Amino acid sequence: MLEIIQLPALTDNYIYLLHEPVSGETAAVDPAAAEPVIAALAERGWKLSHVFNTHHHGDHVDGNLALKRRTGCKIVGSKADSRRIPDIEIEVEHGDQIRLGEQTLEIIATPGHTLGHIVYYCAGSEALFCGDTLFSLGCGRLFEGTAEQMWHSLQYLKALPGSTRIYCAHEYTQANGRFAISLEADNPQLRQRLSEVDRLRGQNLSTLPSTMALELATNPFLREDSPAIRSALAASAADSPVEVFAKIRRLKDQFR
Ligand code: ZN
Ligand code: FE
Repeated sequence: MLEIIQLPALTDNYIYLLHEPVSGETAAVDPAAAEPVIAALAERGWKLSHVFNTHHHGDHVDGNLALKRRTGCKIVGSKADSRRIPDIEIEVEHGDQIRLGEQTLEIIATPGHTLGHIVYYCAGSEALFCGDTLFSLGCGRLFEGTAEQMWHSLQYLKALPGSTRIYCAHEYTQANGRFAISLEADNPQLRQRLSEVDRLRGQNLSTLPSTMALELATNPFLREDSPAIRSALAASAADSPVEVFAKIRRLKDQFR
């Protein structure tokens, strides 16, 4: 199994360190900055072998160059973003696999937030590193892709086992929850999650990882088929799942 360490960075980013104990190989997922990674490696006596980038935004790649210079790690990123990911060395696309020692991570293309966005799924460790595609109780904004692309991307993630732990790149859960409850006030699992999230955030603790089962039960962007959400949106029976999803995304963009 991978040992997974969560490192807070910038205002609300998380960098994840993945350590495969048999080989000693270690990857940093979306290093917003190099310093927290270097400090965490030193504390544990680990050596960085890889950086895994989900997409090219600065709050996910700004640590790349310093980490490579310092450790000689290999930088893995989306082939579609080869010009936008600093110092990329291993270009991957949908269906590719990347090994970290004894563990294998599968690349799933998830266009929507950006066109080249990818996520890393490790079946052996039941873990998904989903960058800015899926958040707890939310999903990424559509900066480059269409609602239809994002909806298709999320369908891949919905099909993963419910026990999959969801490691998102941002701590957005509490704000996302305020929107989610506005659409589905009577969802008991959502209410329970929100009180747990308020408790955790009150102590400045992380709400992540989530699990896919919890997200399927509470995340409005995975629940466009919920009768309560459809009625809150005044969706007609003729509205397709993609149309309902697009409506939820637009409403969230305007939500204060
Ligand atoms: Zn982003
Ligand atoms: Fe981000």
